[in-house]
Amino acid sequence: MTNVQLKKDHIRLLDDELTLHPSNEACGVFIGRKEKSSIIVEIVLPIKNSRPSDRSFELDSKEHYEAWNRADEEGMEIVGVYHTHPHSKASPSAWDRESMENYQTLWVIVGVDGVKGYVWDDGVKQIEIIAVA
Ligand SMILES: [Zn+2]
Repeated sequence: MTNVQLKKDHIRLLDDELTLHPSNEACGVFIGRKEKSSIIVEIVLPIKNSRPSDRSFELDSKEHYEAWNRADEEGMEIVGVYHTHPHSKASPSAWDRESMENYQTLWVIVGVDGVKGYVWDDGVKQIEIIAVA
């Protein structure tokens, strides 16, 4: 994977997630599809953080399950997860790095310095985010 395509509306939604949850991390999933060199995001789905904290998150299992069903219904798949860093930069924390190794998918972090994407490829690698209309 070399890049991820997010619609401008998606990026706006992610920025809103940061603003709407000033004290704890917000989280959610991306529904879309994978092409040769791109992850194409079609739907950004916020999911409740079932363990509210400003340093970590846990996707609510019921809502996460519903998201899988939704992706299936749409003929797509869950292609990644996002979470916010309410007080820090969009760089993976030690907790994030460990989680990325255990759950190898696209990870998007929304921090005070913007929106950044990462994948695990023998270590954490940043992946380019392309904003599409
Ligand atoms: Zn984090």
